[in-house]
Formats: sequence, C-alpha cells, structure tokens
Amino acid sequence: MSGAGNFKNCGSVLVTGANRGLGLQIVDSLATGGFSPGTIIATARSADSSQKLQELAAKYPNIHIISLDVVSQQSIDQCVEEVGKLLQDEGLNCLINNAGIKMLGDFNTVTAEKMIENFHTNAVAPLMITKAFLPLLKKAASRGGAGGPRSMGIQRAAVINMSSLLGSVELNWGERADTFKWYPYRTSKSALNMVGRCMAVDLEPDGILCIMIHPGWVRTDMGGSEAPLSAEESVSSILSVIGGLTEKDHGSFLNFTGEVLPW
Ligand code: NDP
Repeated sequence: MSGAGNFKNCGSVLVTGANRGLGLQIVDSLATGGFSPGTIIATARSADSSQKLQELAAKYPNIHIISLDVVSQQSIDQCVEEVGKLLQDEGLNCLINNAGIKMLGDFNTVTAEKMIENFHTNAVAPLMITKAFLPLLKKAASRGGAGGPRSMGIQRAAVINMSSLLGSVELNWGERADTFKWYPYRTSKSALNMVGRCMAVDLEPDGILCIMIHPGWVRTDMGGSEAPLSAEESVSSILSVIGGLTEKDHGSFLNFTGEVLPW
C-alpha cells in the first residue's frame, strides 16, 4: 500500500497535537514532501505553539495554526468555528486525531485519576472532536472524490486515529505481557480502538472512512531515545498508508507499514 502522493488530491488535513513529536512531523512532511494538500491545519493546545511549528507556518502559507486543547469542549467548539470559516463549503477532508498522553501506572501504583485523565485525552477527546467536526467532514464527503460516489479515502473524507500496538488486547499475553504494565495508557488505546470501530460504523453511511493506526515505536518525547524509528521515518510510512486508504481498509487497525494488527 502506498500513496502519500494522493495528499495532492486532498483539499485539507487537520492534525491535533501538532506542537511537537509525530503531529509536528506530519505537518512538516505534508508541507515539504512535494505532495502538499491544499490546506494544512496544525492545531496545538496553546496559541503560543512551538517555534518549529511557527517557523513552518511562516514558510508555507497553506499551514494554519489554530488553538485546540483536545480535552476542552469549549476549545473544540471554537476550533470548529474557526476551521469552518477557513474551509467554508469545501469542508474538511482528513482529520488526524494524533494528540495523546502516556500516563504510567502498574497494578500497585495506578490510580483512578490517572486512568480517567489518560482516557479523556486518548479515547474521549477523539470521539468528541470527530463529533464536532462531523458537519465539515460530511460537507467534504458529499462533494465526492475522484473514485466516484461510493469511494472512500482522503480525497473524500477520512478520520485517522493514532492508536498504539500497546492497545492490542490480543498481543498483551504470553511473553509480551511482561513489559509495559501501563494500565492508564494501554487501556486508553484499547478504548480508542473501540471508539474508532464504533465511529466507523456510524460514519460509513456518509462515506467517511475511519481507521486506527500504530505509528511504530518512535523517538519522540513520548517514545524516548531508545526507539528504533525517527519521527521522519514513521511519518513517511504513515502518510503513505493513509494516502492509499480505500473502502476496504474502513474500520481497521493498521500498523504503520500497512498490515492489519490484531485487536
Ligand atoms: P509526544 O508526547 O511527543 O507529543 C504529544 C503531542 O500531543 C504534543 O503535541 C502535545 O501537546 C499533544 N497533546 C497532549 N495533550 C493535549 C491536549 N490536551 N490538547 C492538545 N494537544 C495535546 O507524543 P508522540 O508524538 O510520540 O505521539 C503522538 C501520538 O502517537 C499519541 O497519540 C501517541 O499515543 C501515539 N503513539 C506514539 C508512539 C511513539 O513511539 N512515539 C507509539 C505508539 C503510539 P503539548 O506540546 O502542548 O504538550
């Protein structure tokens, strides 16, 4: 599966958590990769976003920085309003729910507060954001894509949820179960997988594609310096997979390489 070049046929992409890490790299790679979509909306929790993001936006006029704290409904509603003014009748083609946090906690140290905080950012927020952006996604989907009225993909409308292999219930068994005993993070990503699967059912009638993707283990603040992949390598592969998505991928949990992962 390949197709980062298909982003050229995608009018708009919105990325949450674009301040640093994978979100920032997605914005960077989209703007500089030679296949830039019409409009790139880089959202960051604070209007005072990172210097790197501001430098990118200063260089590439199709990057728009808009504030979005994913756990604040007021911030979500305000962001939708601003994005609506920007995109108008074109609607939003591709929403990437990337923002996430990693709260640690094993059986002894986990608390209800840690569980709830991680759930809010990683599983509840992508649902609330997708609900809020639905009118704009529908607008884009109703305009149809290059593949005809029943086609699905980023040229029409798509919701991409940044999940994790650590959210796989099936893989947390046997040898693999001895490491990463992080109740808040792991369960939040399992919940995100179910949120995404439920959304896929609800978005299908409008022709809006929805998937979950694992970015690999990546050297970011979250992934740490031991991770095997650079953000650039991970995002290059992710964009290639996302660009090539079609209706047959709808509702699936994919690796950054494009293979289907076990739930
Ligand atoms: P980072 O910790 O490097 O970056 C996280 C980003 O999310 C930051 O931009 C941060 O903003 C933003 N964010 C967190 N909370 C909020 C909020 N309430 N509102 C808005 N933005 C917020 O993580 P990565 O880039 O590594 O991870 C990106 C996604 O990929 C996450 O969902 C993560 O779970 C997933 N992932 C990452 C892996 C890895 O190896 N790196 C592996 C598997 C999955 P701010 O700068 O303001 O804090």
